Amino acid sequence: MSDQNCAPAFPAVPEPLKNLKIQYTKIFINNEWHNSCSGKKFPVYNPATEELICEVEEGDKEDVDKAVKAARAAFQLGSPWRTMDASKRGVLLNKLADAIERDRLIIGTMESIDAGKPFVAAYLFDIDGAIKSLRYCAGWADKNQGRTTPIDGNFFSFTRHEPVGVCGQIIPWNFPLLMMAWKIAPAIACGNTIVIKPSEETPLSALYMGALIKEVGIPPGVVNIVPGYGSTAGAAIAHHMDIDKVAFTGSTKVGKLIKEAAGKSNLKRVTLELGGKSPVIIFADADFENALEYAHNGLFYHQGQCCIAGSRIFVEEPIYEAFVRRSIEKAKKRVLGDPLTPGICQGPQINKTQFNNILSLIESGKKEGAKLECGGARWGDKGFYIQPTVFSNVTDEMRIAKEEIFGPVQQIMKFKTIDEVIKRANNTTYGLAAGVFTQDIDKALTVASAFQAGTVWVNCYSSLSPQAPFGGFKMSGNGREMGEYGLNQYTEVKTVVIKIPQKNS
Ligand code: NAP
Ligand code: MG
Repeated sequence: MSDQNCAPAFPAVPEPLKNLKIQYTKIFINNEWHNSCSGKKFPVYNPATEELICEVEEGDKEDVDKAVKAARAAFQLGSPWRTMDASKRGVLLNKLADAIERDRLIIGTMESIDAGKPFVAAYLFDIDGAIKSLRYCAGWADKNQGRTTPIDGNFFSFTRHEPVGVCGQIIPWNFPLLMMAWKIAPAIACGNTIVIKPSEETPLSALYMGALIKEVGIPPGVVNIVPGYGSTAGAAIAHHMDIDKVAFTGSTKVGKLIKEAAGKSNLKRVTLELGGKSPVIIFADADFENALEYAHNGLFYHQGQCCIAGSRIFVEEPIYEAFVRRSIEKAKKRVLGDPLTPGICQGPQINKTQFNNILSLIESGKKEGAKLECGGARWGDKGFYIQPTVFSNVTDEMRIAKEEIFGPVQQIMKFKTIDEVIKRANNTTYGLAAGVFTQDIDKALTVASAFQAGTVWVNCYSSLSPQAPFGGFKMSGNGREMGEYGLNQYTEVKTVVIKIPQKNS
């Protein structure tokens, strides 16, 4: 992920499509396209130009109810979905991956326009990630086996891994296609049915996926896609009495609402992937250039709009000044512009609200005494662009060191001892990811063990792969996605006990 940002290193990437036509703008239920029950639509904008791309049908509670009914019917015992061989579910997931591969140029262009992603990043990272996640879960579809259990008494006992049921899935705008793949792939592999709500900021690739889901032969009602707002359609999913599980990716604030809604409704299972303020510790003995590169990309990738962004960089005192100087040089070299233009490595922030939040956090950094080394303001006069920004002399109590900025703003702090830096790194309510750079294996292991984080990178950063589980400690989430651990979150375990007849001999 971190190395796949700018175009020049990837000459094989084609030009994005010109004049892409958006075909799918309706609600997808039972493999058919529906208008919203309310008759309302919402606008979808290109954050690079602030221009309207299209309008999309606005799903709300009634539409969610319709989608849940379809998902419930598809989940009934004896339905085509429940009687389908597990291996066939794997085949369907692989076909879906093939269809994405075929339409890569369309989806890559769409994702770039809708989410403000440099085309090359969308084309390579997001789409590859989605394809690989689908294929990884396809392989698991017929391997999700239970165990025989040596229970006491004259019984034979075994466990079955059964699907949970109707899964509500709510995803954010920063990796729309990839997050959809992370949600639907394990759910389908394990035989669940789905009602998914993409972010209102970026519903287009999800709706395109609806067309592919139908095309490859996934039965009606298995995947239902309801675009709409969080406080209406999203809340309807979280509160629904007939949804068995909700999987959410987004902010910690909304994550709390989801869990509360589950408690107030039917105690549906909840998995959460939330925010972070991830520490990156760089010791003086580290390979300097390697650490510099990863720290830079680990923060600036996708305009800083990554939950795993390494946004608290702790650098050991002897190399602090040099590290700051070189980080500024790198930030100043970033090429901003329209994400569809080759060679661009930084696009706009997703919307005006995020743009304003980031600028106000930058102001707070200045006021609280951090040194603004570069950037700090808007770039250009159209689109939600922010200059690559570097702060030095940042201290732990500043807002920019505590709050998730979700923008291209790098905080560089100084440390002196390993004990001190471990304590400071863990002094946060978040625990999503962390990085450590050193050539000393003892230090690396000590820090990797001490970090309170779901993923720890040593001498690298942002390396994500569908085989490895991902998720947060503390207020960065509950549960894991992807990997075998992620699959477990889409099954219920059932124990079956059979009496063995006694022989009277
Ligand atoms: P968000 O506001 O929490 O939104 C995420 C999703 O939840 C969107 O679909 C949103 O709908 C919906 N939503 C909003 N309010 C809701 C409610 N009351 N009930 C149910 N659903 C609701 O987050 P975001 O601003 O889109 O994304 C950025 C955040 O996500 C960051 O904090 C980031 O760290 C986190 N994130 C975490 C991960 C991870 O894997 N841990 C990955 C990506 C992002 P709308 O479209 O209407 O807002
Ligand atoms: Mg958009």
